[in-house]
Amino acid sequence: MPTYHIITIGCQMNISDSERLASRLEQAGFKKTDNKYGADLVIINTCGVRQSAENRIYGLIPGIKKENRKAKIILTGCLSERKDVRRRLKKYVDAWLPVKEILNFKFKILNYQRRGNDNFGNQDYLSIQPKHDSNFSAYVPIGNGCDNFCVYCVVPYARGREVYRSAQEILAEVRGLVKRGYKEVVLIAQNVNSYKSPIPPSPPLSRGGDFADLLKTINDIPGDFWIRFLSSHPKDMSDKLIKAVASCEKACPQIYLPVQAGDNLVLKRMNRQYTRADYIKLVKKIRKQLNLPSSPFIKGVIWKPPVSITTDIIVGFPSETRKQFNNSVKLFRQVGFDMAYISEYSPRPGTAAFKLVDNVSPAEKTRRKNQLDKILRQTALANNKKYIGKTVRVLMENQTKVGKWFGKTATGKDIRFSAKSSICRAGNFVKVKVTGAKEFCLAGKV
Ligand code: SF4
Repeated sequence: MPTYHIITIGCQMNISDSERLASRLEQAGFKKTDNKYGADLVIINTCGVRQSAENRIYGLIPGIKKENRKAKIILTGCLSERKDVRRRLKKYVDAWLPVKEILNFKFKILNYQRRGNDNFGNQDYLSIQPKHDSNFSAYVPIGNGCDNFCVYCVVPYARGREVYRSAQEILAEVRGLVKRGYKEVVLIAQNVNSYKSPIPPSPPLSRGGDFADLLKTINDIPGDFWIRFLSSHPKDMSDKLIKAVASCEKACPQIYLPVQAGDNLVLKRMNRQYTRADYIKLVKKIRKQLNLPSSPFIKGVIWKPPVSITTDIIVGFPSETRKQFNNSVKLFRQVGFDMAYISEYSPRPGTAAFKLVDNVSPAEKTRRKNQLDKILRQTALANNKKYIGKTVRVLMENQTKVGKWFGKTATGKDIRFSAKSSICRAGNFVKVKVTGAKEFCLAGKV
């Protein structure tokens, strides 16, 4: 039986695409191997969002080809359609696979006979039944692509315009996961809160069919599981959605809300379509609604932690002055993020910003990144210290050594804890008393 090995670089959408690709390969008669140097097919699922992610493949692919000469190399993901990437890697790559073509991938170009069902008609690749890596937590893509065209971003070009799955299909996937014992479903799309069911929703989704309605309907599925979702564009985070999150006891109080810049002029040049004041007002609204003592929250919880807010921000966008960057600094202090992914701007071919002069020096970008990172560490630590002495519900992920476990709180905090009990198993919920806090990790005891 021929073997395959998938290397995934990038975001949750790529991880989820790889799970669908794995399922498609197994359907065609391939078997998974953990050894990239022994596999017959090596698939690299690429990310083109930052130069650093792109650079990884330029070392990786020639290295695999050198060590594993018989391997057929397939390149998929964000970079699979970029002409300059194709030119640079053409002597190493055997086939280029745009993500949406996963379903109808022509195995014959690799001289492999395809097995199983060949007739997929017009089915979308998101309808493939995925092969999940975890048996308790699963990404469920609700759509693909983006219509927002932020000037620095490749996603609308690499993935295309927004396409959403029907609510019926998503609900069926979540019901199946819950039935198989999954404890966490993570609804993903580039912009979950612009979701709209493409076909008129039918019962039980008798409401309008937007993301708030979808969330409430998933919350009504019987079972003990958590719902997370990401990411949310601030301009589309409606009052209706905030109220829905606050009213759903399975929806985790963790909001991923990319800000990208703290200065109005930079935000405008990025085409983000909100101001710094809009963002701050939105965070206040989220905190007010989700921290209400009356809002129902996760069964079995003893202490209700405050909603955690995660963001993405770019430093050194073309012509970002020190003064403009200082507005990002102020925003970081004002919001007090729990987590932030801080990136140094890198021009992405094909985007509108690629034509702008990348005139903030690499050293200055790093300095700005470090400055924000320092503030993030302070605010994250202050937020985490509020957990000390409290008991929280934790989803166990894995054992690190005998009696030591790693898991996540509903607010998405990593937690290491000791537990000797026989009830301990990856995928179980346990109550953990928090005894210590660092910037990005809690410590505790079952
Ligand atoms: S919202 Fe902007 S940053 Fe996010 S995927 Fe769409 S274009 Fe890219």
